[in-house]
Amino acid sequence: MSCVGRRRKPSRPNTPGHLETFRQLSAKERAKAIRLSLRESFDADELQTTWQKFQNASRRLALLTRLPLLWLIAVTPFAIVALGPLRTWPYLLGGLFASSLIVSIAFVRVHRRQLPAAADRWLHAVSMTLFPIASIRAVDRISKERVAGFNPLTVIAVFCGEDDADPLLRRCGFDLDRADAPAGEPAVASCREWYRAQKRAAFTELLKALQRNPFSEPAKSDETVALYCPRCHSQFEDGITDCADCEAVALVPFEERKRA
Ligand SMILES: [Zn+2]
Repeated sequence: MSCVGRRRKPSRPNTPGHLETFRQLSAKERAKAIRLSLRESFDADELQTTWQKFQNASRRLALLTRLPLLWLIAVTPFAIVALGPLRTWPYLLGGLFASSLIVSIAFVRVHRRQLPAAADRWLHAVSMTLFPIASIRAVDRISKERVAGFNPLTVIAVFCGEDDADPLLRRCGFDLDRADAPAGEPAVASCREWYRAQKRAAFTELLKALQRNPFSEPAKSDETVALYCPRCHSQFEDGITDCADCEAVALVPFEERKRA
């Protein structure tokens, strides 16, 4: 997957702390900061860089997480069958604790470098030492935090193949485009519409950077279909007016029918 034409920006996760920062800015500065924050959360290039750096930093931890796994699925059954449970259980339990402790120590080191401001480091370290399943998943504990600042659509677009990601990108993108102005206070409604417009623009930039178009016309499933739903790409014969899955979405005729 390629990301072209994007400039590098420093990583600045989209955390709740942003809200407090935004609140202290003037209205004009706040708009700029929100726009920048949205652009960063939709930055596929930055996500790939962040992920690559994390992969490099966590390589040793990933290898170490195999220790408790191997101890559980290979060493333990072999020792029990060969020597019996009564003679081996203290050593097996001790080995399991030791392997989890090794992972836990490596986890603390990687966590400190990757998430210096996180407060739950020692809580996870203790749970990993006591619960081998948690130590086996030590890398996941950090990786999800590393990508949490990016918009889920960016994560899906970068990490999933087009066949898996495009249906979701299309539905979410379509809903962003057609969302009506919310009812209520005019100032609040206008603020929401402004935010939605910025999000739409950031989403469009993401698709452009990835050179993806999940909205393009689908291939016909057979010759009898004449219309498709632009949101879910379900296909229909002539005479059908509504998609069974999507509410209030006008069906679109296939190109060849539009030309006829
Ligand atoms: Zn549909």
